[in-house]
Amino acid sequence: MINLILFGKPGSGKGTQAEFIKNKYDLIHISTGDVFRYNISMQTELGLLAKSYMDKGELVPDNVTIKMLEAEVSKSPNVNGFIFDGFPRTTIQAEMLDKFLKNKDLEISMTIALEVDEDILIERLINRGKESGRVDDQDKSKIQNRFEEYNKKTSKLIEYYNNQGKFYIVEGLGEINDITKRIYNLIDSKI
Ligand code: AMP
Repeated sequence: MINLILFGKPGSGKGTQAEFIKNKYDLIHISTGDVFRYNISMQTELGLLAKSYMDKGELVPDNVTIKMLEAEVSKSPNVNGFIFDGFPRTTIQAEMLDKFLKNKDLEISMTIALEVDEDILIERLINRGKESGRVDDQDKSKIQNRFEEYNKKTSKLIEYYNNQGKFYIVEGLGEINDITKRIYNLIDSKI
């Protein structure tokens, strides 16, 4: 099984690249942001709760996010593996994911970080917000808050996965196709 984590700041291209990787390696793509947005659109209890955090650019609490992620993984038994996109974002989430996978005799294969400068990300996110209508993409202070959440909480995971020898960086600037090729080369060289 191949279990990948796609890591990177908001707007770094995780969702776009996950779609290509998913098709090439026949994996299940789980984006916690997408699952939350789906719940918001269906006006579920989880959606209402998540919205109050997402609209401010804050992380949804760990216990809620972890429970949801575990439910998503459990929906797809007997698969080739998963791409985790936007999860984990805190050390507790990473520890819980390791524990959860271990119970199923599974583990993370590798963590791929897409690296892009914040200036470029702000531009990308504002453009994406205009097209998608995403509230958290349309306001610079909300975007800044998401970067702060990343820098305070998520960036600690670099050390977490580095210590496991599972952290790899891919330059996230350039043509989408070129970035995809860089990712394929990396995966093929390690797996
Ligand atoms: P994304 O689509 O990955 O940019 O996520 C959009 C928003 O969903 C984030 O700013 C958070 O509010 C929330 N979210 C997504 N994934 C997580 C996570 N793993 N932990 C906490 N909040 C999350």
